[in-house]
Amino acid sequence: MRHSTALGLCAVLGCAATAAQVPNELKPFVKIDAPAVVMDHVRVIDGTGAPARDNQEIFIMNGKIAYVGPRPMSQLTPVGTRFLDMTGKTVYPGLVMMHEHLFYPTPDGGPGLLALYGEMADSAPRLYLAAGVTAARTAGSVEPYTDLSLKQLIDAGKIPGPKLFLTSPYLEGKGAYTPNMHELTGPGDATRLVDYWAAEGMTSFKAYMHITPQELKAAIDAAHAHGLKITGHLCAVGFQEAAALGIDNLEHGLVVDTEFTAGKQEGVCPGQLQGEEALAKLDVEGPQIQSTIHDLIAHHVAITSTLAIFESFAPNRPPMSELMRARAALLPDAWGSFMTTRAAIAERAAQAAHPALGARMLQMEMQFERDFAKQGGVLMAGCDPTGYGGVLAGFGDQRELELLVEAGFTPEEAIHVATENGAAWLGEADHFGTIADGKDADLVVVDGNPARNIDDVEKVDTVYKDGVGYDPEKLLASVQGRMGLR
Ligand SMILES: [Zn+2]
Repeated sequence: MRHSTALGLCAVLGCAATAAQVPNELKPFVKIDAPAVVMDHVRVIDGTGAPARDNQEIFIMNGKIAYVGPRPMSQLTPVGTRFLDMTGKTVYPGLVMMHEHLFYPTPDGGPGLLALYGEMADSAPRLYLAAGVTAARTAGSVEPYTDLSLKQLIDAGKIPGPKLFLTSPYLEGKGAYTPNMHELTGPGDATRLVDYWAAEGMTSFKAYMHITPQELKAAIDAAHAHGLKITGHLCAVGFQEAAALGIDNLEHGLVVDTEFTAGKQEGVCPGQLQGEEALAKLDVEGPQIQSTIHDLIAHHVAITSTLAIFESFAPNRPPMSELMRARAALLPDAWGSFMTTRAAIAERAAQAAHPALGARMLQMEMQFERDFAKQGGVLMAGCDPTGYGGVLAGFGDQRELELLVEAGFTPEEAIHVATENGAAWLGEADHFGTIADGKDADLVVVDGNPARNIDDVEKVDTVYKDGVGYDPEKLLASVQGRMGLR
């Protein structure tokens, strides 16, 4: 024992650090494997939204945060403790991201070919962890048994990846745009599927665009009967209608709310484009959208922000410099498919007489999320690695933080949205989501200061999950060029 001035915490934890047992399968990805770690001189963004604190000390023991606070720490540290000088580095909680997928659009689609999504069982978990995502709620599955197996493999220490909170296959109505999805045949079918997937181990549900109000009501009731939550990316059902039916969470936010579309028929999706055109005529500060915000908050419906996917539909965004890491991770065919569509979006916008709809939607969504959160709504964050590609697991989550700051949140608030809010939603706030004594040592170490320059979240040095420090470079190198393939 290295003796210092106080005994309090050691008495509680016994001070005997059990030697960390990193399984052999994970060793190639690990750079810090010690029974205890002291991070000295570190800047802490604790996940609560509080301002960054400089020159702190963090003590990790047996996978938990044993101390965080001003230095010098007064704790006993066991033999074998790693002491790290963290000058110039910042620590924030492992990201808890809420709109994640373990699949990616299959490249080289085109006229006459089906829209397909392939499971990225190798690359997605590694990309998430490398980017600092230590907990991820999936938001819809196309290979549910692969998702369930991946969770088991990660939890057993056989493969690297985040703590997964799995959502069932999409609960989609008639009109699914990909054969990867089942189409519900009515409310009884919705109940049957929720019961089935709850029994198989799925812990949340996702209603999709064409689900009818009757099917949605059945799914909500069945999920709640299991004590589980349900979210939705809806189109046939408007936001206020879904709130009244008892939905817990809505994905994406304002841009997919069709309730303002003139002539919208009850229970019918008017189309994403029609919905966006109707929205574009409104003002977020106006009474219609504000009344939706008030209604969602009154019904305790959370919103999951997915700004990175909306950004990909705005012309020439994100900048090419932002995409170089995605290029390295992607299968060349997947990169090519993505670039073709990206160029088509920019060309269409250049021809339009009016500012592109995609750019307008991104701006409206940012304002909506700012207003919703300011008025007391629970905002969470995710990356939604779908669309036409380019938004990748992990990189897209970092981009989400940058876009929340562009939307007007402080860096500390953005990190709070992407950590504590998700953890609370999952019922895991006692375990992770903030940096506090007794929590799991799920931490992201970055070079620089994201409180001043949010782009520093891309400079990941180490990602700790349960006290084991993973090397992002090794994780990324292991799947270079494979995203889009496997
Ligand atoms: Zn999604």
